[in-house]
Amino acid sequence: MFNPVIIVAIVFQVIIGKFSRIAGAITGYIITTGILIWGISVYREGYQMAFFGITLPSNVFLLGCGFWFWMDTREFKAAIKQSKEILPENFICPKCGKEVNLSQKEKNEKNFICPECNEIIYVDKEPIKELLPKEIICKKCGEELILNNRERTERKFICPECNKLIDYNNDESSYYKVTSDEEK
Ligand SMILES: [Zn+2]
Ligand SMILES: [Zn+2]
Repeated sequence: MFNPVIIVAIVFQVIIGKFSRIAGAITGYIITTGILIWGISVYREGYQMAFFGITLPSNVFLLGCGFWFWMDTREFKAAIKQSKEILPENFICPKCGKEVNLSQKEKNEKNFICPECNEIIYVDKEPIKELLPKEIICKKCGEELILNNRERTERKFICPECNKLIDYNNDESSYYKVTSDEEK
């Protein structure tokens, strides 16, 4: 009885999380609390909870719930952080590949209508990355390079001069623009 209920609850949570990560995280708390209350009543009656055939002493069960709450909290914090993120000013439309300038409202709401292809673009499910500048100086060899939109969006490229992979995704260091922001 215990295991199927947990599996159904977790599947339920994943489905809710597909629509809203915050709602999914809150569902996680409700599920954990429900199982904790259920477990406590089972132990009160002198029975034990079992997890895939292994009976759990009450202290192990409580420890497990504590760990589960900790996981829920981590997910909840991550969900809040993601919801607070806004889009960068310049964004490459994933449909047509054109660069668009976003208004403050569009940046906050994380969706916009692309002026080039007229598609409605929702960006809230993807991680948000700042575009690399069009012209950049290779930090390995110092060569001036022009990046294409895909390289700018993915924040990595192979320098044609020194053949090194330059990846800014896990790199907080600043890049060197060739020209100032006034270009266009
Ligand atoms: Zn577009
Ligand atoms: Zn290079």
